Amino acid sequence: MSDKPEKFIDENGIRLDGRRVDEIRPMTVEMGVLSRADGSCYLEWGNNKVLAAVYGPRELHPRRLQRPGEALVRYRYNMAAFSVEDRIRPGPSRRSTEISKVSGEAFEPVVMKQFYPSAVIDVFAEVLQADAGTRTAAINAATLALVDAGIPMKGLVAACAVGKVDGQLVIDLNKPEDNYGDADLPIAMTEDGEITLLQMDGNLTVEEINKGVEMVKAGCEQIFAIQKAALLEKFGTAEEDEVLED
Ligand code: ADP
Repeated sequence: MSDKPEKFIDENGIRLDGRRVDEIRPMTVEMGVLSRADGSCYLEWGNNKVLAAVYGPRELHPRRLQRPGEALVRYRYNMAAFSVEDRIRPGPSRRSTEISKVSGEAFEPVVMKQFYPSAVIDVFAEVLQADAGTRTAAINAATLALVDAGIPMKGLVAACAVGKVDGQLVIDLNKPEDNYGDADLPIAMTEDGEITLLQMDGNLTVEEINKGVEMVKAGCEQIFAIQKAALLEKFGTAEEDEVLED
């Protein structure tokens, strides 16, 4: 692991990777990359590479797990063994189990589970390359994979972290900022700004949390725009073509 940098932000307010404090890393997405999944999305965010796949809605077995009035949404976050410098032991860990639970819950208000009683919708988020912010990257990819699978949703979910380095709040922490910073606050939200995931590592004051949430909201606006552009590219053009053909 690299040593702690002396300074994370220079006198011009520029971070080590050239970003401003309120700037997210470059993000690219591609939907429908897996032909066997009902929906999928590959996402790169800075040096993070994440693949999300959705299977379902399909009948849930064993039947005792079925929910009579709604579908069960299962979310599995997993880091590939080769996703970090040291090999990660395959299989669930305390960390991945926790991330899976809270990330699945981040979709609670948007997925219209009532349309598929007794069914299951499986979301798999595979981190292929990790560079801080993987749980938020996975949520951003999973949203598009759910839409790609045709799951009815009230809206999109976006996620981004805010943290503190050199006494200043910064969004979308990179690896050194995550490792050596004073705080890391990953947040997911709906398009209405309803917070659906909030975790905190380190210490922030109430004022800092409030300001951080506002910074994340602005970051998520950028992510929603990227997600919508991907949706337009995938579905908008096809629709326009159909209209043109009619
Ligand atoms: P997130 O990736 O959501 O920020 P963490 O804050 O727990 O989650 O992890 C920060 C980063 O630390 C990860 O993105 C990854 O690069 C690295 N990391 C996490 N777990 C491990 C691990 N078991 N071994 C090596 N690196 C790890």
